[in-house]
Amino acid sequence: MHLLIVGGSDAGIAAGLRARELDPTSRVTIVVADRFPNYSICGLPFYLSGETPEWRQLAHRTTEELTSAGLDLLLNQTVTAILPSRHEVRVEDGHVAVGSLSYDRLVVATGAQPLPANLPGLGLPGVFPLHTMDDSFRVHDRLARGDVERAVIVGSGYIGLEMADALTQRGVQVSLFGRSATVLATVDPSFGHIISDELRRHGVDVFQGVAAEAIEADVGRLTVRGSEGTEVTAELVLVAPGVQPNASLAVDAGVETGVRGAIRVDRHMRTNLLDVFAAGDCVETWHRVLSAPTYLPLGTTAHKQGRVAGENAVGGERVFEGSLGTQVVKVFELAIARTGLRDPDARAAGFDPITVESEAWDHKQYYPNPRPLRIRVTGDRRTGRLLGAQMLGHWQAEIAKRIDVFAAALFHGMRVDGLSDLDLSYTPPLGSPWDAVQIAAQAWERAALAVAA
Ligand SMILES: Cc1cc2nc3c(=O)[nH]c(=O)nc-3n(C[C@H](O)[C@H](O)[C@H](O)COP(=O)(O)OP(=O)(O)OC[C@H]3O[C@@H](n4cnc5c(N)ncnc54)[C@H](O)[C@@H]3O)c2cc1C
Repeated sequence: MHLLIVGGSDAGIAAGLRARELDPTSRVTIVVADRFPNYSICGLPFYLSGETPEWRQLAHRTTEELTSAGLDLLLNQTVTAILPSRHEVRVEDGHVAVGSLSYDRLVVATGAQPLPANLPGLGLPGVFPLHTMDDSFRVHDRLARGDVERAVIVGSGYIGLEMADALTQRGVQVSLFGRSATVLATVDPSFGHIISDELRRHGVDVFQGVAAEAIEADVGRLTVRGSEGTEVTAELVLVAPGVQPNASLAVDAGVETGVRGAIRVDRHMRTNLLDVFAAGDCVETWHRVLSAPTYLPLGTTAHKQGRVAGENAVGGERVFEGSLGTQVVKVFELAIARTGLRDPDARAAGFDPITVESEAWDHKQYYPNPRPLRIRVTGDRRTGRLLGAQMLGHWQAEIAKRIDVFAAALFHGMRVDGLSDLDLSYTPPLGSPWDAVQIAAQAWERAALAVAA
């Protein structure tokens, strides 16, 4: 049994490791277009901030660990075509064809690529995307020249925010351009405003609701022009407009696509082609609350989908149980997290949502350094079902743990009032007898009762 995997990041490596774990007799080959198998690109902002000074530390596993787990890695090689009728792929090394590889089963894990920002000047020196290890080296080299005083970041999603933090830590004056009305459009505007305040408190100039329209070279510097007459001149421009699936290789082979051009897969991560599976940022993601495919390109999801694809490629029957879009991001002193649906998504999906914001302390106030948490709970008014949650507070206030309680409750289809029944941990330095999650759930219940009355 020869399992061939295209792509050696979160999804591809998870698939290979799982296949070998279940069937140590299987031969697993992973073709990787770059020389960074199993690197955590999620860590790029922390490499660029200097908090993780050595890029090699970003490897989830070393190449030696991967090969000793039985994975044959073909690095710096690109699959240029899949020939499903022959169970073969064509491979190039640089631009030189090195031949064909046959497979019994194939997993496509080609990831995502930056959205094409329709922005004149993208190709100018000093303008960088941030999606790959190589992208990060180019930014790193530019910063290392020591003459970057100001940077413009185009895009106020989580990568733009993490990079605003990272570059500020490097002593660079940052201007952030964001097209959406508030930063981090995956959380509600009330949270977006607090995040903008946090950015400004750390010296970031936030231009929100401003679309970058052009980048122009300006005597060794770069001027970014935006709507509303906004104009900022800087030495470095980072463009982080979001991503789209990198699916063309599969599409050319006849693989069907769905949401946002992502590869269509069933819950076993099978494509429409015989013996061809796909996983990670190149595929659609089953949404557990919506019971429908969506596109949620996240490392957490890529790992799980890859594991399912690897298991099924060697004969398993594992079902991908679905994503909730659970996410947490740290911006300066704040952590912001979300899971499930927000009010507008829930309403569009036919629910009758109410979202209630409340505040609670992360631990008992009599113990030093209590931190307030803001929690927004979304639940269905008709059924009381929990639909989603958002949380914001100090980054050391266990935001990630708490959003994961909501995520686990959502995963199991719980009602909001069921959260109060959970036996959660407590000691005064770390929590309260009613955890902040439960206090927020009870605030939601009271509001729902008031609406019903
Ligand atoms: C800066 C940054 C920060 C992030 N932070 C987070 C975070 O905090 N939390 C989170 O959950 N997610 C985060 N993400 C998203 C996460 O990194 C991705 O969801 C995840 O990497 C997707 O894994 P993947 O294996 O599907 O694809 P990718 O990581 O995109 O890898 C694709 C792989 O395919 C290979 N490849 C592509 N085409 C070919 C070809 N034709 N032939 C051979 N090989 C090919 C590439 O070389 C690569 O190995 C972040 C992403 C970035 C860029």
